[in-house]
Amino acid sequence: MRILIDKKGNKYLTGEEDLHTNLGYIKKEDIKNSSNGQIIKTHMGSEFTVLKPNLNDYIDIMERRCSIILPKDIGIIIANTSLGCGQRVVEAGTGSGATALYFGNIVGPNGEVYTYEVREDFAEIAEKNIMAFGQENVTVKCKDIYDGIDESELDLVFLDLPKPWDVVESAAKSLKSGGYLAAYNPYIEQVFTLHKVLKKFGFSNLKSIECILREIEVKAKGTRPKTRMVGHTGYLTFARFL
Ligand code: SAH
Repeated sequence: MRILIDKKGNKYLTGEEDLHTNLGYIKKEDIKNSSNGQIIKTHMGSEFTVLKPNLNDYIDIMERRCSIILPKDIGIIIANTSLGCGQRVVEAGTGSGATALYFGNIVGPNGEVYTYEVREDFAEIAEKNIMAFGQENVTVKCKDIYDGIDESELDLVFLDLPKPWDVVESAAKSLKSGGYLAAYNPYIEQVFTLHKVLKKFGFSNLKSIECILREIEVKAKGTRPKTRMVGHTGYLTFARFL
């Protein structure tokens, strides 16, 4: 799989046809005969670089039917749960598969990610996205996670769905001692209920945070935060099963 990227960072998935963009078109033969890192020009002279997509490139261009967790939150989830090589993860819901792909990338070939999605149409898209990227350590399961978790000896249970508290009891049975439950939730009321249930089922080290990110605009006139920013994504809750 290869993509083309223009000077502004816009990414284009290449296929079996000519590529038409508003910067001009590139013939399919030129794309086919190019190698990674090579610069090719459209008929209007605009330059595009040929790249093998990394995970962020791929997530930008893959099919998406619902919103995905942003890198600012993904990074915090990975760091706070000590996620790494060879670990076992269950996550739900899959959505388009972005979070599952990040987890699969981090746990590596010796790790395993099982991702539950209740909607058949979403599960199909996610499966297609994950397979096309070649992330073989991720398994998509079209299942309602409120019915329970099949896997055991888990290092992390990650939840991005409306009622994470309904998964806490089965997470407690499926996590290794020392493993983490983490949840991403848009509403503070969800955080409140989740804390109550986490305590009931013996989880400890409870922590909830929100990441507010400001991008810095660097211009000849001056450097300052951008005037527009993402005001809210989700609250992140972490708990440890000891
Ligand atoms: N974290 C994902 C997005 C998840 S969107 C990403 O970054 O790409 C939330 C998903 O949870 C939706 O697709 C929804 O269908 C699914 N979902 C909701 N309840 C569920 C349940 N009980 N079991 C499994 N999936 C569920």
